[in-house]
Amino acid sequence: MSPRKKIVSKFGGTSIGDAQCMLRSAELCRKQNSCLIVVSATSGSTNLLLELGQKSEKGSWDQAETLLTQLREKHFKIAEELKVSSLTLQKLQMLLDDAKSLSQGIFLLRDFSPKASDALLSLGERLSSVLFLEAMKQISVEAKERIIWIDAREFLKTDEQFGKARPQIALTAEKCHQGLSFVRGETYVTQGFIGSSSEGATTTLGRGGSDYSAALFAEAIDADVLEIWTDVAGIASTDPRLEPSAFALKEISFQEASELATFGAKILHPATVAPAMRKNIPVFVGSSFESELGGTWIRKEVSTSPLVRALALRKKQVLVTLSTPDMLHAHGFLFQIFKVFNDHKVSIDAITTSEISVALTLDDSALLDKTLISELSHFAEVQVEEGLSLISLIGNGINHTPGLAQKIFTVIPEINVRMICLGASKHNFCFLVAEEKGPEAIQRLHRVFMNSEL
Ligand code: ASP
Ligand code: MG
Repeated sequence: MSPRKKIVSKFGGTSIGDAQCMLRSAELCRKQNSCLIVVSATSGSTNLLLELGQKSEKGSWDQAETLLTQLREKHFKIAEELKVSSLTLQKLQMLLDDAKSLSQGIFLLRDFSPKASDALLSLGERLSSVLFLEAMKQISVEAKERIIWIDAREFLKTDEQFGKARPQIALTAEKCHQGLSFVRGETYVTQGFIGSSSEGATTTLGRGGSDYSAALFAEAIDADVLEIWTDVAGIASTDPRLEPSAFALKEISFQEASELATFGAKILHPATVAPAMRKNIPVFVGSSFESELGGTWIRKEVSTSPLVRALALRKKQVLVTLSTPDMLHAHGFLFQIFKVFNDHKVSIDAITTSEISVALTLDDSALLDKTLISELSHFAEVQVEEGLSLISLIGNGINHTPGLAQKIFTVIPEINVRMICLGASKHNFCFLVAEEKGPEAIQRLHRVFMNSEL
């Protein structure tokens, strides 16, 4: 018998949203012979926990109690339908008790710190993984003893940046090598999204971070394949809600996928590709509801490298233009600007410069931090334009294709373009348009670029 492939399978919230979904996903794990399973919270639970924290902080205890009841009913309903053991019921009860104690703490202190938030939000994945273990044991009765629940916080080590912790990669690998063995056909069930700091405090990798967790686990155990199971059959050529002729991609390279995830496709957390790329682990994205439809393979070597593989739309962008005559022949201006963004932990997506000005795009959430703009205005005149969308064409050889820009802009002649970024990446050409023009630009470009080659 050939050695068992190391397959890491991750399931999103909808794939484990109720008992039936859990059993369907568990069946898929058995079929795939997954060795490590990473689950999200059941759909809606992380938002529910967040609201619970917010209501508690505000002092609305009645509302907090209603949310605690909802959390309980949701998970107990699945437990009932799966007919779980009394031990599992006890485990769920303990986690629900934790949710209550944490929200009481937040309520009493009126303080919902990022640290408290991570502790509270971690309960979504901790609850769902206890239930998923049961689903797995029911589906793989014969292998029951070898299906093991593990606490991700003992393995996925991070720094202390609560709310958006960064992984400690070498330490995570070490923990996995010490604590996980696959020689007897073990299958581990664990939580996405969560980890712990050196001090042992619970941390999270940021919203949507379960994909990233799964990739980090895959990297740590040297997996052969990482599977991301969701509710759509792969990565689409563009968002099908924007353009109905969008189609699922059979394959996409690591670079293209990371550009696509960063520039707007919601299907993968943008950080997911990096760990897979470091260890050259192919990533499969498919639907747990219709696994027979196949999905998208993300890998290093792809059989085709089209000029345009996919189109992405990223809404809620702002364009910040900084200008100063001092920039003329001066050095250090860009350094000063980037330092401000760095100090505020704001990431810049696209940037262009001229001799005396710099234009860059940010997510509009960056403006919530009021001091950012005022600090920038110490060095430059600052202009902020809101209500924009970033359109990206993702593909290959984009910066070396003569006539590409001309072709793009003849497709959308009357749409005003606010900024263009071309040249830095072989894989991405992006530009800004007014938010209300975004969908139309995507539709027209998709019809031209995705149905014919340049
Ligand atoms: N449950 C977390 C969230 O909703 C992480 C995830 O689902 O990936 O953000
Ligand atoms: Mg997700």
